[in-house]
Amino acid sequence: MKIHNFSAGPSILPKEVFEQSAQAVLDFNGSGLSILEISHRSKDFVAVMEEARQRVRTLMQLPEHYHVLYLAGGASLQFLMTPYNLMKEQGGKAAYVDSGSWAANAIKEAKKLGTVDIVGSSKEKHYSYIPKDFTVDDSYDYFHCTSNNTIYGTQMQEFPKVPVPVCCDMSSDIFSRKLDFSQFDLIYAGAQKNMGPAGVTLVVVNEQILGKTGRTIPSYLDYQNHIAKESMFNTPPVFNVYATLLTLRHLEKTGGIEAAEKRNRAKAELLYNEIDRNDHFQTFCVKEDRSVMNVSFELLSPELKEMFDQRCKEAGISGLNGHRSLGGYRASIYNAMPIESVEVLVSVMQSL
Ligand SMILES: *Cc1c(COP(=O)(O)O)cnc(C)c1O
Repeated sequence: MKIHNFSAGPSILPKEVFEQSAQAVLDFNGSGLSILEISHRSKDFVAVMEEARQRVRTLMQLPEHYHVLYLAGGASLQFLMTPYNLMKEQGGKAAYVDSGSWAANAIKEAKKLGTVDIVGSSKEKHYSYIPKDFTVDDSYDYFHCTSNNTIYGTQMQEFPKVPVPVCCDMSSDIFSRKLDFSQFDLIYAGAQKNMGPAGVTLVVVNEQILGKTGRTIPSYLDYQNHIAKESMFNTPPVFNVYATLLTLRHLEKTGGIEAAEKRNRAKAELLYNEIDRNDHFQTFCVKEDRSVMNVSFELLSPELKEMFDQRCKEAGISGLNGHRSLGGYRASIYNAMPIESVEVLVSVMQSL
């Protein structure tokens, strides 16, 4: 039976990526060696890393002074690396938006290195919307936001213009829509949501914001070390970088970010239209901040839960449970999710 994978992460990737990465485990580039056993300094792997960095550069149309890195430690390590590299040692102060649990985790780490002002928060309303009306003045070292709140299903539609470096956690909507990426100075994304397997994190950083804190930064945590070593400061997660490269190639082959955005909008519209039409369902968040990537919703008729779950199972729907902190359901409809799978879910919803 065909399985429709709505998992929030690790999550669906193009089938072609699974096939090609499986092949590379057995025989990489016809070398007779597995991608898992070659040196990260070998010509073949250096070419993988180069292309994986260059493709991000091209897809995001990054200016020269931006660098692309592939690091370990997940987005969670970036919660700490961001303040380490940007928060001044003396009197450091940063502005954060608290739009969800991941944002709150980022805030928790930043507080270890300086003062954090939460300039906007939707915590009191169970993170059901994106905080918008706030101001950030130039007394801050940087501003931090989360573009897509994976758990609550909210997404920033606009980014504030602020007079300090802008940092953004894009883990769950990276490459899902066209943006002016040069409006950000630091972007990071754990690969496992929309670009590859778990174990590697994409970091895009504007070199002009670095080296200004007066802080001694532990070597691995210093972006400047990773930039100087072209993302080979230590052994990178080679297989994960390779599988990510395959996803980036696939994205380009299927029309790039613009075409992906069109497909993503069509999928989200189909699902939200059904939620709005169907009296049994409702989203957790306000309409204007709905995410195109993660559709979090609840079933309003608890007596139908067993039947709905059973019909989902019979239809091959997998990974639809909401996050443990929120309950309900969450359909993650990342780039690799075909609209046909969304149609299957919608038809099960219609059957109630
Ligand atoms: C999943 C997720 C994270 C955590 O990523 P890890 O790679 O597990 O550290 C952080 N931020 C957002 C928005 C996420 O969706």
